[in-house]
Amino acid sequence: MTHRSLLILPGDGIGPEVMREVRRIVDWMGEKRGLVFDVEEDLVGGCAYDAHGAAISDATMARALEVDAVMLGAVGGPKWDGVPYDVRPEAGLLRLRKDMELFANLRPAKCFDALADFSSLKRELVEGLDILIVRELTGGVYFGEPKTITDLGDGQKRAIDTQVYDTFEIERIAAVAFELARVRANRVCSMEKRNVMKSGVLWNEVVTATHKARFADVELSHMLADAGGMQLVRAPKQFDVIVTDNLFGDMLSDVAAMLTGSLGMLPSASLGAPDPKTGRRRAMYEPVHGSAPDIAGKTLANPIACILSFAMALRYSFEAGAEADRLEAAVERVLTDGVRTPDIMGDSGGTPADTRQMGDAILAALDASM
Ligand code: NAD
Repeated sequence: MTHRSLLILPGDGIGPEVMREVRRIVDWMGEKRGLVFDVEEDLVGGCAYDAHGAAISDATMARALEVDAVMLGAVGGPKWDGVPYDVRPEAGLLRLRKDMELFANLRPAKCFDALADFSSLKRELVEGLDILIVRELTGGVYFGEPKTITDLGDGQKRAIDTQVYDTFEIERIAAVAFELARVRANRVCSMEKRNVMKSGVLWNEVVTATHKARFADVELSHMLADAGGMQLVRAPKQFDVIVTDNLFGDMLSDVAAMLTGSLGMLPSASLGAPDPKTGRRRAMYEPVHGSAPDIAGKTLANPIACILSFAMALRYSFEAGAEADRLEAAVERVLTDGVRTPDIMGDSGGTPADTRQMGDAILAALDASM
């Protein structure tokens, strides 16, 4: 791959602070590894509303559809609490996900040994943990119709949400999970509620059929989603890739996130369908955290979640898995050396770092890896 286009949308609050450190790593990859990116930067969220009256402009959206990958910081903040609902900062994020048709959300939960004491679980349960939750993002009960609240007229109301999945939606998310498992530990666990939900019965059937037809080399297991939640906090290391629907994935990925400690450490990726001509998937990479208004402007933010999101971009959008490994190893090195932003300082101490100094340390570790 010779031409690599990247649209960077830093957003609001700590978004621009953490993205500045990503930008330095993007430049490092160009200068030191010959991995040159054609980078554009633009507005999304509250800052886009201030500039254009919309959380993302049509022109920015059009660019997002053209580039190889989008990197997003975070959107929102109290400044925009009063803006109309359809132009609120989060609308920019939702439009990106919808217009780019990003149906697969990837949330790794990897425990860095140096931070194992930050987990809510005992060290031995999480040390070496490396799991990936693949969540269906554009279907299911969050989008299914009818979706109503009806006044029944007798002082009662009735709320209806509808869980809907078609075969193709399950097939394509299962395929993503199996493909990712092949480059990891080759195991997929599919989670649904086939004991009480028709959508769970179909989910189970389609995942099983997709496995048999195209991915028989990958080990497949099935688990009821409630049992899966229990197993995630009982013995999380039994899993490699977990594939599940939008609702269960929303909850299970948050449970898995807390196994590893701070919000400032968690990356994510959202992928679309492969382009029929190039085979490339539309993709957006973003930290799991929000704009953190409580620390914005104070250079206290941990940039690692955003930096690890860029590592995911290297791996999944730019065929640069070895450089992704290098970047993740640099982060691990810095954590082992005890460099700590305030959110990961804990009781055992370490070398205090602000956002920029954490970036400096990771760049120095990258230099040392050459
Ligand atoms: P948040 O993730 O912004 O912050 C939660 C807590 O974690 C805060 O105490 C914050 O200081 C801390 N934190 C978050 N990221 C950190 C980092 N990188 N380093 C150190 N500490 C970090 O969630 P919130 O406070 O519920 O939401 C704040 C704003 O962000 C709201 O406007 C919300 O709508 C928005 N939000 C946006 C996204 C997104 O853009 N994807 C996601 C969640 C929330």
